Amino acid sequence: MRREYAIAVDVGATWLRVALGDEKGKLLAKLSQKTRQKGRSGETVTEQVLRMMSSLVKDIDLSSVKGVGIGSIGPIDLEEGSVVNSPNLPFEQIPLAKPISSELELPVWLLNDCAAAVLGEWKLGAGRGLENLVYVTLSTGIGGGAVVNNRLLIGKSGNAVEIGHLVVDVNGSLRCGCGGLGHWEAYCSGANLPNFIKLQLEEMGERAKDSLIFKLAGDDLTNLTAENLFDAAKAGDKVSLRIIEEIGKLNAAGFASVINVYDPSLVTVGGAIALENPELILEPVKKRVKELVIGELPRIEVTKLGRDITLYGGVAVVLHSEELGLSPCVG
Ligand SMILES: [Zn+2]
Repeated sequence: MRREYAIAVDVGATWLRVALGDEKGKLLAKLSQKTRQKGRSGETVTEQVLRMMSSLVKDIDLSSVKGVGIGSIGPIDLEEGSVVNSPNLPFEQIPLAKPISSELELPVWLLNDCAAAVLGEWKLGAGRGLENLVYVTLSTGIGGGAVVNNRLLIGKSGNAVEIGHLVVDVNGSLRCGCGGLGHWEAYCSGANLPNFIKLQLEEMGERAKDSLIFKLAGDDLTNLTAENLFDAAKAGDKVSLRIIEEIGKLNAAGFASVINVYDPSLVTVGGAIALENPELILEPVKKRVKELVIGELPRIEVTKLGRDITLYGGVAVVLHSEELGLSPCVG
């Protein structure tokens, strides 16, 4: 039988997604579940992925499937085919490639989620035909993937392009999940935006207290969420719009560094923070980044592949592995 299908897996700290793609890269079926955060070991997550996959392919003859492409939160260990010591999941190791390959008897490719995402954009999205592009996710964390001169950047163990830990504030007072000070992710990621917003509100002092954002947080900053800021800004709250400008400055510093390093002709942006607030997040970046970039400015746009971008990458690595020169992790 012709092997025309590809299975994609997106392992996130909050969500697990699996999908079946056809030979043109179209997603035919998708399943998602909240990632299990409890259990004795990372195998809890492995088993959850296996159950989701078997339900996804129950009506499919596996001999028509070419392989499985996984995009996963990092750090990953390519040799082991696992996620290791992820700061966002309470497990030392989550085995992925080996158990999936032996259960389905198929080759398995493993990439970090943003490497998968930029590959999805390159082969199946807005990056088709380009030689240089970058993907940036503004999500729970901040991450990136890059294609440079027609090569997907992978790194020695699969963790290249960790742009969330670029320094955007040398006098940084906010600490990143990795322990560093002043890192982009410590300010502008979904998990850490509330810290930055609180810092800004504290600096503004009394005059911030009558603002809509304070009301939306129930007059109690311990309850403050990133949504409070975006909702208040959309309603025209001046204090919130000022904070949006400050976030824009930091994001512009991050994007400018990424552009200066990789020299892409396209930057696409995804992750819930950007996908849900494209104007508030991207317009300030586009306005400021010009002054910070050496060389020609690339197009910067929200990805049209949306939340499925990593799944598209999982399908793309299976379909295009030969031309990419990427061998499976197992199989
Ligand atoms: Zn960091």
